[in-house]
Amino acid sequence: MTPAAGRREHPAAGLGGDYLRLSALPVDYDPFSPDTQRRLCQEAADHRGVKLVREFVDLDYSARKDIYRPGYEDGIKALVNQEIEYLFAPTVDRFSRRGMGQVELVLGELEEVGGRIIFVKEGLDSSDPNSRLIIGVLAERARAEADQIAWRVEQFHETARRMGLWVRVRPYGYMVEDHRLIPHLEEALVVRRIVDEFLGGAALRAIARRLNDDGIPCPKAVINAEAKAKGHRVKPVQTTRWSYIAVRGILTAPVTAALHSHNRQLVYDEKGDPISCGEGIVTLGERARVLAELERRSASVRRAQDVGRIGERTGGGRPAKYLLTGFARCGHCHGAMNRTVVVADGKQYGAYRCSRKGRGQRCLGGSVMAEAFEDEVVWRYTARLTSGICSRRRRILPSGRSASHEPASSATPCKRDSTRSGHARSWTSVGCSKQSCRARYGSEPRSSASATCCASA
Ligand SMILES: [Zn+2]
Repeated sequence: MTPAAGRREHPAAGLGGDYLRLSALPVDYDPFSPDTQRRLCQEAADHRGVKLVREFVDLDYSARKDIYRPGYEDGIKALVNQEIEYLFAPTVDRFSRRGMGQVELVLGELEEVGGRIIFVKEGLDSSDPNSRLIIGVLAERARAEADQIAWRVEQFHETARRMGLWVRVRPYGYMVEDHRLIPHLEEALVVRRIVDEFLGGAALRAIARRLNDDGIPCPKAVINAEAKAKGHRVKPVQTTRWSYIAVRGILTAPVTAALHSHNRQLVYDEKGDPISCGEGIVTLGERARVLAELERRSASVRRAQDVGRIGERTGGGRPAKYLLTGFARCGHCHGAMNRTVVVADGKQYGAYRCSRKGRGQRCLGGSVMAEAFEDEVVWRYTARLTSGICSRRRRILPSGRSASHEPASSATPCKRDSTRSGHARSWTSVGCSKQSCRARYGSEPRSSASATCCASA
């Protein structure tokens, strides 16, 4: 072994870091705890006389997939930038499971800057040419091992499904006894209530709102809190409140009738019957009614230029109907804002409103009148372009032409600048029949001469 003191040319000679990783598998499959990994690295560093100054950690990250691992990337970066000379990894498989090719690339890069990776368990040093071949072979083995684990886990679940056993985290509404589901004393009542309200005609959003009003936490929050209490590593939940999506999830989940599913498909036995995994909260008949009712309520396309879409479900990919759809964000919760219609004094107004609020979640953000908002955005956008383009436009256009593309009052093409009173609605926007302007402001051009859309654009 080369003592650290022997490599004086490295700017961070004698300094090192350790790299710890836990995979995304459940804790039962990956019991190599970070504390154990840390201890192994520390012992190896002490043995070599290296001072550990950094630690790079990836929890819940697979080393088999081609994904970004922040701890791993930072560790390599620190080596390449010569902030540390050594990186200690407990084993080759902690470091990478992506095989020889990927590891070779990394080691080649390190050779140029004089950084080295020590694999503690195997006793390998990446700067040693003899070790590098073994590291490559071990990296290949780690890859095969990962594939083997994935295959085994998949087969395990496949067998469990066929036998009608539940071997995963309990679903909301159920308890697991001898790998079979039985209704949870309290949660099953909540599920029951959702199904009954829905079949009674209630809207998904209304159901979500009532559950929230009663202070019932959503399924994700319940299961998450339970895992946390058991000491599992869990990602924090964003909200404990029900949304209509959570309600719909309960209604559509096969497990609500205690049916097994895989990749969103029901699992059937040899006779073609769906496989049950316990005692369902709803019966198969009720499940069929719920699905039929959801189908009945789902929106379908009635008019479309593409005739093929008529009768199909509505969905994404359509061009936005309003100017700020997809752009406007709620200032309070950063949710997307929808344009809706509000009625005040018997008149209808367009308004942009936080969509999360519309989904039954709590948001204190306000609504904004659509026309004023759109005008403001158009004005701000055009104001950026105005100075240059306006002067150019005046030069280019022949002075006698006052056809549709021209400002209604060409003498004051940028009047918006001078009349801007800080209130967007005071700007009467349209005096022009240009296609793009009509699309924005509606088909009825108002004959106001105070300012025009084209004029300022
Ligand atoms: Zn909001």
